Amino acid sequence: MPHLSQVMPAATLPARRTRSALGDPAPLLAGAAPARRASSPGGGPARRTRATEPVSASPEATHRLYLDHQASTPMTAAALAILLEVSERDYANPSSTHRSGKRAAARIETAREQLADATGALPEEIVFTGGATEANNLAILGAALHATERGRDPKRRRIITLPIEHPSVLAPARHLAERGFRLDIAPVQGNGRIRLDALDDLLGEDVLLLSIQTANNEIGTIQPVAEAAALAREHGALVHTDAAQALGRTPLDVEAMDVDFASLSAHKCGGPKGVGALFVREGPNRAPILPITYGGGHERGLRPGTQNTPGIASFGIAATEAVERLRTDAPRLAALRDELEAEILSRIPDARINGAQDHRVPNATSITFPGVDADALIARLPDLDLSAASACHAGTPEPSHVLRAIGLTTEDAYSTLRLSLGPYAAAHTIPRIALRIADQAPPLRAP
Ligand code: PMP
Repeated sequence: MPHLSQVMPAATLPARRTRSALGDPAPLLAGAAPARRASSPGGGPARRTRATEPVSASPEATHRLYLDHQASTPMTAAALAILLEVSERDYANPSSTHRSGKRAAARIETAREQLADATGALPEEIVFTGGATEANNLAILGAALHATERGRDPKRRRIITLPIEHPSVLAPARHLAERGFRLDIAPVQGNGRIRLDALDDLLGEDVLLLSIQTANNEIGTIQPVAEAAALAREHGALVHTDAAQALGRTPLDVEAMDVDFASLSAHKCGGPKGVGALFVREGPNRAPILPITYGGGHERGLRPGTQNTPGIASFGIAATEAVERLRTDAPRLAALRDELEAEILSRIPDARINGAQDHRVPNATSITFPGVDADALIARLPDLDLSAASACHAGTPEPSHVLRAIGLTTEDAYSTLRLSLGPYAAAHTIPRIALRIADQAPPLRAP
């Protein structure tokens, strides 16, 4: 197992951000990059490619083509190395006060700073969780619990969200709707973007929380979070964004978005599964929230339980790398994705691209093949790993709620593939993927 320093050059380790309450920006290591803002990614120093290459067991290495990076991404070499290194060396309980415990705790604090750097947050605003599902539940249920138990305004009992949110947003929101809250679903346009005029009509002084995703996991559409948050603020509502699909795919800045809560997931950006974080605004505009599970006082008392030290440390490196890669990856992947779409459309002219083509993550596409059963198509393409709908829906007979909400018929929803490329997608594979899909789709067309 290589030591971290062998796969992660010192210069790529993050610097403390300027806003840090811990004092002047002090590089963790001599030669580290100056503090960066998330809104201008890629300003960091040159990086050895080794640090972001996939581990050798990646699907590409075994000659499969993995096209489902919205569902999960392979861990980067550096993220895997630190996961193993921390598991091996910093196994102590991070709450223990002895030296080993303090070393483990320091790993977590380094990752907290890395996540803060990657998102424009302060380190103390990062609460580590067991993934974005948990972060979404904590934000929505925790804000509602605070409102009912400590809130000064008993009228704020309404929640607004979008019909295309992930189930881990919709389910807790519906749970609250069965317990005295009112749930309003703000309509989206055919491209998946929220209708800001309709949101404005829905907002009022009784709204507690607007939950609006940053990027969608099926169609890749990026929402105008800052604009929606500005409208919500006019009515004194809190704002949560599910940014699980955004970190490392589009610049992410909690300050620029002006949100109170933001959910993150490690396994969508080169880190391990079962790790995530919730940004919870601190300072004079501290976001009101209570824990939804009880135990020790870990993570500001909001997420009790011994932290997953290796996973968190690994998430920190993965997030840093993902943001550093963004400047080069985003245009490269968008060009490959556009080529893939063009190749498919040139062979199947009635195929349709879903989502906002001018506002979407660079690596993903959702394509409807009218009259073609997507599951049957996937079955004919055993060399490609792709999905008909979100992984969270896979195996359920329901058509994708996202595709239905943007106006697709049930039949078209069942005829849709989502394809997403990873950071190491190779240009020469694109025509082959398009050809394989275009070869197999037409024979499946319903008569
Ligand atoms: N939100 C979105 C938009 C997602 O895509 C996912 C993962 N499918 C989640 C939340 C849940 O993340 P996790 O797997 O970390 O619980």
